[in-house]
Amino acid sequence: MCVEAIPPPSSALTRRGVLAGAAALAGTVAAAGQATAAGADRGAASGRRTPGATARVGHLVIHGGTLLDPATGEVTEDAVVVIEDGTVRAAGRRGGVTVPQGFEVLDAHGRWILPGLVDAHIHLSTAAEARDAVRKGATSARSGSASFYQDIAVRELARHSPALAPRLKAAGVFVTPNLGDTVLADPDLTPLARLKDGVRSAEALRRVVDVNLARGADVIKTRVNERAGLPEQDPLAQVYSREQLAEIVAAARRGGKGVLCHSYSEQGCHDAVMAGIRSLEHGAFVGERTLREMRRRGTYFTPTLTAIAGLAESSDPILAERGRTYLPILKRAVIAAHELGVPLAAGTDSSGGAVDPIGGEVELMHSAGLSPLDAIRTATTGAARLLGLTRTAGRLTRGYAGDALLLSGDPLADLSVLKRPVGVVRAGVVAA
Ligand SMILES: [Zn+2]
Repeated sequence: MCVEAIPPPSSALTRRGVLAGAAALAGTVAAAGQATAAGADRGAASGRRTPGATARVGHLVIHGGTLLDPATGEVTEDAVVVIEDGTVRAAGRRGGVTVPQGFEVLDAHGRWILPGLVDAHIHLSTAAEARDAVRKGATSARSGSASFYQDIAVRELARHSPALAPRLKAAGVFVTPNLGDTVLADPDLTPLARLKDGVRSAEALRRVVDVNLARGADVIKTRVNERAGLPEQDPLAQVYSREQLAEIVAAARRGGKGVLCHSYSEQGCHDAVMAGIRSLEHGAFVGERTLREMRRRGTYFTPTLTAIAGLAESSDPILAERGRTYLPILKRAVIAAHELGVPLAAGTDSSGGAVDPIGGEVELMHSAGLSPLDAIRTATTGAARLLGLTRTAGRLTRGYAGDALLLSGDPLADLSVLKRPVGVVRAGVVAA
């Protein structure tokens, strides 16, 4: 794609703004080189592309494919999607849609067209991971934290170079008892290194949330239980009480933000939900009383089945055993949640260089018992609502973002096609 002039720094230039801006610009320069190289390779897109006379970035017509609207389940054959300046201007059956002249055209004959997917839990710390997430179908995402605020720079990268990163809700650093090296992520976090017990007092918890808010986080990430992915930790051990979680939620709310909470044990899940979190992450042992409370409050469930299925494949015997034990329990929790009416969001929990396709999480949601359409909704309309993108992501209809996937077959018949999109459009730009 064509990279426009680098936007000037924000007029409200603060020390934090300078730091975030420097990171964003560093990412842009590296990524812009890759984008130019990729743009020259016109064979990268799967569909046949006809450049438009005006060839304006963000203007694109996708035509000839079968369009699925996850909101209604409606399927439109021989469809046309007109994207102008990165936003859908019109979508529907060919003949019923006015096709403008001079736009680049992407031929989707024989393909299915879906809105770009949403990964509601992913860790993006490098430009390569951000680009990979888009190529694998996640055109919008919510960060599950980044050690040094890289996710905030990724969010800015996505704003000016949408083909290079998903539209992102950034979480900043994890609110966790032991920050480790993350105390170096911001000078205002360094005093926390002195605390013998780690980040546990109301004041320390507020400090981490406040630094995140000052750095521009969109959401706050915390935990109630230890980690499943480390063999020496017991994921059922609780690290924060309901009162401590309520402190984090209150601090986030003062900044107008919601909290996502890593949870495993039923007591931990219950305390997190009662403390007022916005979404429960992992949640393998969540019980019915907590699910009913989630239904009542509208708390989301992001089970990250991909991550637990990944544990089962681990070469570490403790982790492999944990994954094999947890996966069927988590699937039962997912279908119980769905049947009770708890909103579900798809998230891969990808981190550390390996980006899992969000389509794989949709497939796992289906294997837990959701219908194909309901499974697709967890990565489109459902997750979009959780991210506050109700009128932006999850559908391809007038006014929504011009983010689309081209698939090799009917996802309602075989969801595995979602894992390997044959084309990805991000804000009207062919990204893969
Ligand atoms: Zn995570």
